[in-house]
Amino acid sequence: METVKQPTQSLVEKDLQNVWHHISAYNEKSQPMIVDRGEGAWIIDHNGNKYLDGMSGLWAVNVGYGREELAQVAYDQMKKLAYVPMTQSHEPAIELAAKLNDMLGGDYMFFYSNSGSDANEVAFKIARQYHQQNGKGARFKFISRYRAYHGSSMGALSATGQAIRKYKYEPLSHGFLHVAPPDNYRRPKGQSIKEYNLQRAQELEDKIIWEQKETIAGIIMEPLITGGGILIPHPVYLEKVQEICNKHGVLLIIDEVICGFGRTGKAFGHQHFNLKPDIITMAKGLTSAYLPLSVTAVRKEIYEKFNTGEENSHLRHLNTFGGNPAACAVALKNIEIMERENLFDRSAELGDRLQKELKELSNHPYVGDIRGLGFLLGIEMVEDKITMEPASNERVLKIVSDCKANGLIIGKNGDTVAGYNNILTISPPLSCTDEDLEFMI
Ligand code: PLP
Repeated sequence: METVKQPTQSLVEKDLQNVWHHISAYNEKSQPMIVDRGEGAWIIDHNGNKYLDGMSGLWAVNVGYGREELAQVAYDQMKKLAYVPMTQSHEPAIELAAKLNDMLGGDYMFFYSNSGSDANEVAFKIARQYHQQNGKGARFKFISRYRAYHGSSMGALSATGQAIRKYKYEPLSHGFLHVAPPDNYRRPKGQSIKEYNLQRAQELEDKIIWEQKETIAGIIMEPLITGGGILIPHPVYLEKVQEICNKHGVLLIIDEVICGFGRTGKAFGHQHFNLKPDIITMAKGLTSAYLPLSVTAVRKEIYEKFNTGEENSHLRHLNTFGGNPAACAVALKNIEIMERENLFDRSAELGDRLQKELKELSNHPYVGDIRGLGFLLGIEMVEDKITMEPASNERVLKIVSDCKANGLIIGKNGDTVAGYNNILTISPPLSCTDEDLEFMI
C-alpha cells in the first residue's frame, strides 16, 4: 500500500525536535538527510535525490538494498515463529551456525547477540572465564591496537584504540592495553614493509612480556584496520601475531565485524592470512544489516572448558534478542544470495578494478596513498606529498561533501589519536553493477 508522503520540511522539523542522532554535534542549522528508500547500491532521499552508497550504510549492506527475498524470509519467519530466547533453540539458529561452521572449516561453536559491540563483549567474557577454568585465572588483560574500533559499549570501547571516542566516558574497563598497528605508508624511511611489520609484531610481544605474560587473556584485532583508516598489514605481521599468541598462551580474537562476509574479497578477512583464530566476532554483513544480529564464534576446545559440571562453569551471559529467528533466517538467505551471485569474488574483482582506476589519482598533489583489499578502499589525503602532512579536516570535509553533491557517499577516517581524519574510505555494496563502478570512478 502506497503511504501518503509527508512534506520533507515537516519531517525535518520533527526529527530535529525528537531524534538524537548518532555521533552528532548539536547544530540548529544542520539538516538531517532523511532517506526514503534503497535500490541496489543506491539510496534515495525524501526529496527524490539519488546517492550511490559508497559506504554501504556503516560498512554493512553487503548485498545492497531492496532485496525482496530477504523481506520475504523475515515475513515468513515472523508469521511462523517470531521469537524464542536462545536458552532454547530454533531451526534458523541451528542452520545458520552449521552454515557458518562450514564457511570456517568446522571446529567452532556460535553464540548469538545483536551487534558487533555485543559480540566483542561476549568474546572478552568467554576469554576471561576460559582462562579461569583452565587454571590461569591471572589472565585478564586484553591487547588491541591504536586506531582500531571495536564498538561503543564499555568493554568494546575499552578495546577501541581511538582516544576521542573515549573522551569524557572514562574510566572504562580495567585491563585493556594498546599497541601501534603497522601503518605501511608512514613507516620509517628506508625500512622495508616486511621488516617494519615484523618490528610492529615484536612490539606486541614486548608488551606481553612487560605486562607479565601470565596476565594476558587475549589479543583482539581486525584482519586489517578499517575504521582507523584502512591499514593493511603485510602477511608476516598477522602470522607473527599468531605465533606470539601460541607461544604465550594468549587467545587470538579476530574482529570480522566489517571484514567478514566478502568485504575483503574472501568470506572472512582472516582467510587471506595463515591464521586459526580462537574467537571470531561478526555482525554487519552477516545479515547485510537487514536485521540486527551478531555472532561470537569460539573454538570447540575452548567451549569444552565450559559446562564441566563444576558450579558456575557455564557461560552466564544472555541477551533477550540475540539469535532472533527472523534475523537468523535473513542471515541464511543473505549468505545464500552472496554465494549464488558470487559476491565474494565479485568484491575482489570490483575492488581491484576500482583500485587500478583510482591509481590514476596517485599523481594528484593531495593524494598520498591509495590502498585496499577487496571492495574496501582508502585514499590517504595529504597537504604535501613529501612531508606527508595529513590533509586538513576542511579539505577532507570538502571532498566528502563535493562527492555527496555529485551523488556519491563516501566516508572519512584516520588517526583520531593524532587528531586527523585524512583518509577517504570507500566500502560500497558488493552487488554494485559495472555502471555503479563507473559512476564512482
Ligand atoms: N568492530 C568493528 C571492527 C566495527 O567496525 C564495529 C562498528 O562499526 C564494531 C565492532 C561494533 O559494531 P556495532 O556498531 O554493531 O556495535
